[in-house]
Amino acid sequence: MHNFDFDFLVIGAGSGGARASRIAAAHGAKVALVERGHMGGTCVNVGCVPKKLFAYASRFHDDFDDSEGFGWDWTTDSNQSVDRPVHNWRKLIEQKEKELARLRGFYVSAQKHSHVIEGEASFVDNHTVSVNGQTFTADKILIAVGGQPFVPNIEGKEHMLISDDMFYLNTLPARAAVYGGGYIATEFACILNGLGVKTDLIYRGDLFLRGFDHDIRQHMVEELMKHGVNLHFNFNIDRVEKKGNVLKAIGSNGNTIETDMILAATGRVPLLDPLKIENTGVELAKNGLIAVNDVYQTSQDNIYAVGDCSSVSQLTPVAINEGHFLADMLFGPDNMKKRGKPLYNIIPTAVFTSPPIG
Ligand code: NDP
Repeated sequence: MHNFDFDFLVIGAGSGGARASRIAAAHGAKVALVERGHMGGTCVNVGCVPKKLFAYASRFHDDFDDSEGFGWDWTTDSNQSVDRPVHNWRKLIEQKEKELARLRGFYVSAQKHSHVIEGEASFVDNHTVSVNGQTFTADKILIAVGGQPFVPNIEGKEHMLISDDMFYLNTLPARAAVYGGGYIATEFACILNGLGVKTDLIYRGDLFLRGFDHDIRQHMVEELMKHGVNLHFNFNIDRVEKKGNVLKAIGSNGNTIETDMILAATGRVPLLDPLKIENTGVELAKNGLIAVNDVYQTSQDNIYAVGDCSSVSQLTPVAINEGHFLADMLFGPDNMKKRGKPLYNIIPTAVFTSPPIG
């Protein structure tokens, strides 16, 4: 019988890891939760939550316009027109930080029965993890490290931003281009455009939002064009050039788009580098994700993985469900262990564009 420091050690306090840690501890397991950044992971800090605040901010523009049709008068009694409010980006960032601090507080207090370890975890062996030079052993280990933005190998890609950067911009540029045609690209195109940035959306295919209904995708084209977003389909960025403060996205067809900022929103990949996963026998699938069976067990009996590092669906509620199911299965009472597994064929999903789609 081994004498481990913990029953369950969770690497990553994002949506999946934080849920698994909290539920396992509630079931009475001795749990450690390791996090190198802020509690809450991508969703809380550089994903869903701040993105949604930005999306709300960007929609007031339309609301101000629409308000006249609902009786709001943008003139004074003496028939002078009233100036519309001006957006203050710094204020939005400050308010966003306040809200995130509040949310992180919830994440911290929810972990009161787990031992939280701040730092970057790497595997020493299948039962041992090192954090800041200190080692911790555990019977079972969960990898819930999430993902990071993927930027294609484009010449000049160092001039492109990733979605993380968007939450810390000091100022909004006058012009911006977004490269990609998925969730992040379409959402940020709407956010930037709604906040008054002249926005180009550049996509390699002939119609963005692949996987959504054709009529919804087509409707989104019309909506974006109506709102003034410049759409460039069938455009592969070959290289990015920077001259002074001006960027040029040069397409493989020779076309050029001039702008002040380019956001690469071209997918996300698992964040495995710091983990030293090679010190375990954990195997990866062909697509680079950690390979797991239908109960999130990796090729090593005592090591599990949930969320963006192992799941085909990179969505917060999916990670939460996976983490919750796993904690119930490993540490819950017997009746919970028999509970159904998360279903992957009926995942509701929404894109927070203007208008939002689902
Ligand atoms: P997506 O997978 O949604 O979209 C990636 C886009 O980049 C696709 O349009 C894809 O084109 C394009 N692309 C991929 N590789 C290249 C390449 N080499 N060159 C040019 N274009 C490329 O990823 P995102 O980055 O937008 O978001 C990551 C994930 O985060 C999403 O899949 C989603 O799961 C999650 N997310 C969810 C949100 C929500 O729930 N509202 C919001 C934001 C993110 P193609 O279609 O041709 O493959």
